[in-house]
Amino acid sequence: MEGVFHEDLAALSDLDEQSLLESLSQRFKQDRIYTYIGDILVAINPFKYLPLYVKEVSERYKYHEKSKLPPHIFAVADRAYQSMMGRLATGPRNQCIVISGESGAGKTESTKLLLRQIMELCRANSQLEQQILQVNPLLEAFGNAQTVMNDNSSRFGKYIQLRFHNSSVKGAKINEYLLEKSRVVHQDEGERNFHIFYCMLAGISPDDKDMYGLLDPTQYRYLNGRYGSEDIVRKWGEKYSEVCNAMDMVGFQEQEKVDMMTILAGILSLGNIMFEPTETDVLRVTGKSMGWLKATAGQFGVQEEELLRSLTCTLSVTRGEAIRRLHNQQQAEDARDSIAKVAYGRVFGWIVSKVNELLAPNVDFDVELNEIGILDIFGFENFAVNRFEQLCINLANEQLQYFFNHHIFLMEQNEYKEEGIEWETISFKDNKPILDLILTKPIGILSLLDEQSAFPQASDRDFVDKLNSKFKSSPHYEVVRSRSPLFTVVHYAGKVQYNGGGFLEMNRDTIPASIRDLFINSVTPLLSVLFAATISRTGTLMPRKAKVMQKADDNFNSTRKQSVGAQFKHSLAVLMEKMFVASPHFVRCIKPNGNKLPDQVDNKRVMDQLRYNGLLETIRIRRDGFSWRPSFKEFAQRYNILLIKPDLPLTKESCLSILNTTEIHGWKCGSSRLFFKYWHQEELSRLLERLG
Ligand code: ADP
Ligand code: MG
Repeated sequence: MEGVFHEDLAALSDLDEQSLLESLSQRFKQDRIYTYIGDILVAINPFKYLPLYVKEVSERYKYHEKSKLPPHIFAVADRAYQSMMGRLATGPRNQCIVISGESGAGKTESTKLLLRQIMELCRANSQLEQQILQVNPLLEAFGNAQTVMNDNSSRFGKYIQLRFHNSSVKGAKINEYLLEKSRVVHQDEGERNFHIFYCMLAGISPDDKDMYGLLDPTQYRYLNGRYGSEDIVRKWGEKYSEVCNAMDMVGFQEQEKVDMMTILAGILSLGNIMFEPTETDVLRVTGKSMGWLKATAGQFGVQEEELLRSLTCTLSVTRGEAIRRLHNQQQAEDARDSIAKVAYGRVFGWIVSKVNELLAPNVDFDVELNEIGILDIFGFENFAVNRFEQLCINLANEQLQYFFNHHIFLMEQNEYKEEGIEWETISFKDNKPILDLILTKPIGILSLLDEQSAFPQASDRDFVDKLNSKFKSSPHYEVVRSRSPLFTVVHYAGKVQYNGGGFLEMNRDTIPASIRDLFINSVTPLLSVLFAATISRTGTLMPRKAKVMQKADDNFNSTRKQSVGAQFKHSLAVLMEKMFVASPHFVRCIKPNGNKLPDQVDNKRVMDQLRYNGLLETIRIRRDGFSWRPSFKEFAQRYNILLIKPDLPLTKESCLSILNTTEIHGWKCGSSRLFFKYWHQEELSRLLERLG
């Protein structure tokens, strides 16, 4: 007897929400945090150390038979690697592992474990392996922060692609999505800025501290004037050496590191500049702020007067005439904060493109590379106030859900139908109409946003009014009667009310030309490169060929730049294109409670996650479904040896005679292929093995 608790819940006979929840939580109480639902891995965050990832376990899960060992994240690594090598029966050679779950559910930890185990599997042990493993600590330092949900929360999404030739890793590439830049200038109660600021301040040597012009951490407004206890500071300090070490290993140059830290120091100083109104309309910077202005200019390598000018007024060129408009206090503060956000965002983008450059496969053009991609992207979000960022994140999740549905439900159902196999139709929520609502051209939410963003005079209210008039009768849209620009989208995971305030500006994400020019002329080489370059869709930096002519209305950027919405939509499309032609693997992470505590299961929370992860429907279809569908030819070629007749014709009849000699049950024969349950594959391999 297996015991009461099943390792594969797809095998549960009495399946309902309650039994699913019970099984998972019983297993969890015995520290069995991993469970299969067919070939989907469910992982519940233990919030404590478990001896699950030690060397010995890692060895045991190499080239193993899935059904012989308990469910494990290493088993997913093994399957992806083996099928990338073509060692498992069917499917495309490229693999993608989709990791989903809400913030703090364990996505990023799972990603790291997968990476580590895949490196073990290909026995890389090379410099390249070390480099690849160092990428995570580096990205985490710059892209993660403490939030209420997670002490080490990723504030960006990423798709890591490992590239292989035969069995060995040849390179890696990262795509990053939607870094939460606003965190640089503002953090909510109980949250912090990006880790790197604290690490830098804690770990830097006194000499370097002087060189970068860094002062006492509690002085900085962008850090909320808060620092940490001695204990925490020591840990940050250690982390700083790790980050520096990682940069060395990946291949960053000394000067690049120095520039990067100087820019970070500049951002901190910049945040302390305050403006005072005067009787005339000109803003003034006095006293302490004067000192911060000087410091910032020094750190950014720009002229103090020019920096001040770009903060306190906007220069626009209309019909060849330059017009200077003075900022009020709010506008000056906004300009200051937007410089900080842009500078930080560009440093982050630059790190990613540098990593991609350094880890690009060094192989001839005609060498065929196969890929394992790992997607670690924010889960569905529904906060008290939801902004443009949440719309993008929820769009990504909507798209992933579509991919999941498409894969699990539609593909299977359609094929069974085509092959004439009996099959009860399973109902599920198709979320394509919601994707259309957001993505369709020319009248999806994002297109309308772009249309409005192109009018300098348009307001967020105008945008929401447009949405209301276009979508009021859509079943996935709800008009909100309010003076604020609110609207509701009915997502697959539930209703989310968005606040349209700031949508236009966030979508435009432009920097005034005067600010860009200021930084292009910076004597800090990195800063000048960052602002002279546009970061291409693929994440690599592209130098601008020539300074683009100033265009008529130049309140915004002088280069024609894609909106944030359009860029994100494009990168999602590229990602989906890749995923739809790869063999998918799904890891569903679950957060057992809201307190980040071990051994605690909050049933309601878990149930909610099971529901919007689509796990319940999945159980149903997986239990009944056939996950492996070789053609007659494929099957006969591979298994004719079971009849010891290598010259068998590759036909349906041959397949049937092969299968009839075995004791395998429950498979079906379609019109062009065979249908097997996921465990049949292993039963067959076992038979082959027995033959030697
Ligand atoms: P997410 O990326 O989904 O937001 P993380 O992967 O950062 O979540 O996990 C949040 C925290 O939970 C981690 O910092 C770690 O403390 C804990 N955690 C996650 N997975 C595990 C695990 N397998 N074992 C032990 N602790 C874990
Ligand atoms: Mg994360």
